[in-house]
Amino acid sequence: MESAKSTQFDLNRLVRENVRNMTPYSSARDEYVSDGSEKIFLDANENPFGDGINRYPDPQQRTLKSVLSGLKGVNQDQILLGNGSDEVLDLFFRAFCEPGRDNVITVPPTYGMYGVLSSLNNIENRKVLLKRDFTLDLDGIFNAVDENTRMIFLCSPNNPTGNCIPNEQIEGLLDRFTGLVVLDEAYIDFSGKTSWINTLDTYPNLAVTQTFSKAYGMAGIRLGSCFASREVIAVLNKIKPPYNVNELTQRTALQRLKEAGRIKEEVEVLRTERKELERALSALDYVERVYPSDANFILAVVDDANLRYEGLLEKGFIVRNRSGQPLCENCLRFTVGTPEENRLLIAALNELK
Ligand SMILES: *Cc1c(COP(=O)(O)O)cnc(C)c1O
Repeated sequence: MESAKSTQFDLNRLVRENVRNMTPYSSARDEYVSDGSEKIFLDANENPFGDGINRYPDPQQRTLKSVLSGLKGVNQDQILLGNGSDEVLDLFFRAFCEPGRDNVITVPPTYGMYGVLSSLNNIENRKVLLKRDFTLDLDGIFNAVDENTRMIFLCSPNNPTGNCIPNEQIEGLLDRFTGLVVLDEAYIDFSGKTSWINTLDTYPNLAVTQTFSKAYGMAGIRLGSCFASREVIAVLNKIKPPYNVNELTQRTALQRLKEAGRIKEEVEVLRTERKELERALSALDYVERVYPSDANFILAVVDDANLRYEGLLEKGFIVRNRSGQPLCENCLRFTVGTPEENRLLIAALNELK
């Protein structure tokens, strides 16, 4: 039985013509993959005097993907890895949006990179503000959609507001929107909620991005991931730079993924600390509102964001002033640190007058 959604969603229509027609770069390491037997590699003009990083990395990151495939419950051909999720997001623009013609929808206040990447790629960014409770304005979104709307970017838990977007709203979009819904789950591990990755088989128009930069504690190695249908992943794979995830990054990620227990413990600590910080912020006279958070940061409304930001800076704490964002007047965003950092922050907050 064909569902309404799958008959409406036509991936071929979304792919840019130049992308559809191009021949991807074929690297030496694409052509021959070592089968473990001893071979002499004279195909890629590498320096043969090796200490382990003289060779180009696997362009398809097969070992890493096989581990992730088990962890996330998807096939390896449903995974794309990038130099941070920022690279993955850029690939979406380049694969599916014709510069100067197409548009995307973003829902501020949200992650700034969606807007930056739309400017960079000369794609119109149609901003439909979240409602005051930071949920989606579905009517506003569908009013903004036209025949050139290629993607809608959602972030859940959302940065900087910290809340998850209600499931039924995301479902509402997936059911009706015939372009791609790109759902950024950078903070999903702090939320205790299930990932939308589990629904990829139901929604051909869904792509989920995640990152190793937050819960997994590897912002320094630059590794982001995307999970989608095999067809969507194949398009992104076709246009990605061949060696976009370097050897050291692949190795470090593999190593760290073996420490699942430690990652889980760290996330638990951060969730407990988040509660502490929430409580401390709520008790302050100059804090007018503390938004509930499903992430590893807290957004709070203060009496005067610039004043409080400067006050904290003087005491050696750098937080994020989000006042410039719509619906975030006088808002500061606090990342949850170690228990020790958190105690010091709370002491400093209590000293501000
Ligand atoms: C931090 C963050 C990311 C991570 O980006 P990387 O390039 O993977 O480090 C992605 N999306 C959101 C919303 C973020 O806040």
